[in-house]
Amino acid sequence: MADERRFRGPIDLHTHSRVSDGTESPAELMRAAAVAGLGTVALTDHDSTAGWADAASAVAETGVTLIPGMELSTRVEFASVHMLGYLFDPENQALTAESERIRSGRLRRAEEMVRRISEDYDITWADVLAQSVEGATVGRPHIADALVARGLAPDRSAAFAGILHWRGGYYQPHYAPDPLTGVRLIREAGGVPVLAHPGTGGRGRVIPEERLARLADAGLFGLEIDHRENTPDGKERLHELAVRYGLAITGSSDYHGSGKPNRLGENTTSPEVLEAIIEEATGAAPFFAS
Ligand code: AMP
Ligand code: FE
Ligand code: FE
Ligand code: ZN
Repeated sequence: MADERRFRGPIDLHTHSRVSDGTESPAELMRAAAVAGLGTVALTDHDSTAGWADAASAVAETGVTLIPGMELSTRVEFASVHMLGYLFDPENQALTAESERIRSGRLRRAEEMVRRISEDYDITWADVLAQSVEGATVGRPHIADALVARGLAPDRSAAFAGILHWRGGYYQPHYAPDPLTGVRLIREAGGVPVLAHPGTGGRGRVIPEERLARLADAGLFGLEIDHRENTPDGKERLHELAVRYGLAITGSSDYHGSGKPNRLGENTTSPEVLEAIIEEATGAAPFFAS
């Protein structure tokens, strides 16, 4: 039986720091989690584990339990599919090599997008670098911040709705493996994979059932159903699929600091589900605040 006392307070399993496209350092994020009254938080930067140590350093001080994780970029044709991975071995060779490959692909892609945008707007690659810390997983949010700094957009969301939109005329895809590879890489590294925000396109655009069946066979653990960007009918469909394939249900904020309106703890995961994640994981352990 799950020992619910292990997790004092709400559990939020999806957050971003400056190591990717959040706006706080990992330790600052842990402090924000304590202020928000959370008991447990997972740090899930895009394609990077570089924030784990800094976040772990704030566990004792904040009393917030840390679940180390990552949001791995995968894709099916032109649609990007995000795969959360929890408690995997951060030194696993195959997974670190793939994450590095994605990060460098993202960097080339961001440079190419900026090159194209700069033909029409006054923006340079140096502007984007000024908006990201060394080694960060660079994405459209950093280009958005550069556009905002140049006065070319009022905020990130406006930049995403305009210049950075996939139909905005400047969009470029970046390298990413397919979701099945993502699930296998995370499992082989001893981690537990959960499909991130799979219902943002509504019922009709939820993952095709045969594809989900293959992911479940390969070890997919759960679906992040409680997420603000999943639509009501998308969630309904996902609940049907979760029951059919025996998948766990998670809920999370996908907090990005001031980079997105998502608030820490706005969606949460049950202690029983977190306990099951910890039980299945063999790659890393949570950082408990004793
Ligand atoms: P990319 O992976 O570089 O294509 O950029 C997508 C990332 O931007 C995702 O991780 C989102 O969290 C973030 N994002 C998407 N839409 C918005 C928005 N409207 N405002 C801020 N961030 C966004
Ligand atoms: Fe993000
Ligand atoms: Fe995501
Ligand atoms: Zn995310």
